[in-house]
Amino acid sequence: MSDSIAHAIEHVRQQIHASEAAAGREAGSVRLLAVSKTFPASAVQQAYAAGQRAFGENYVQELQTKAAELAALDIEWHFIGPLQSNKTRIVAEAAHWVHSIERLKIAQRLSEQRPDSLPPLQVCVQVNVSGEASKSGCAPQEAKELALAVAALPRLQLRGLMCIPEPTEDAQKLAGQFALLQQLQQELRTAGLTLDTVSMGMSADMAQAIAAGSTMVRVGTAIFGARHYHS
Ligand SMILES: *Cc1c(COP(=O)(O)O)cnc(C)c1O
Repeated sequence: MSDSIAHAIEHVRQQIHASEAAAGREAGSVRLLAVSKTFPASAVQQAYAAGQRAFGENYVQELQTKAAELAALDIEWHFIGPLQSNKTRIVAEAAHWVHSIERLKIAQRLSEQRPDSLPPLQVCVQVNVSGEASKSGCAPQEAKELALAVAALPRLQLRGLMCIPEPTEDAQKLAGQFALLQQLQQELRTAGLTLDTVSMGMSADMAQAIAAGSTMVRVGTAIFGARHYHS
């Protein structure tokens, strides 16, 4: 079991390197975030033993429990799921990064609740690049105003943008969604923000995301296997 997670991570790293090379990008320019949601702390430990340090969680309670359980390890926790305002304090205390900022109110609460003893919370603004009403993220036309407001909050450091594209077999449609995020990021740089993170790409679309400029891929299934949700 431990071997399979180690092998999977090695395989994903090789795929990232191959995609970087194919896109003419510098080796090491894409970080791997291992998405450990629904998997036990033991699976995180196995990935950690294989050298993985950044882990992503979607559910506040699960982040809190796992972060406490694995407090002895040098893990960088990324919160990547929908965040309700009554749960921000837990995330402000347990996470190093939050990728899923879609409203200023949530960002303000995270900034207020970030303990002074910790470095600023590293954040990305999530953009709904597909335009589907059901999807998380701010509208593309709201991204700039939200990003500028988030960047001004004292206890947050805005690192860039994040998206979850609409799953599609249409490679061009997918590329268009990734390109939109990259274009918005460029507009924010032009507006004066210093940003280094484009969080896009998951198990199924890693290569396309890297070709489109991703600097951080969020990979769950390809490392830990299929998820089984319990009700
Ligand atoms: C679950 C999840 C991932 C990982 O997806 P896989 O397809 O398992 O790689 C990435 N990003 C977010 C926001 C997720 O919720």
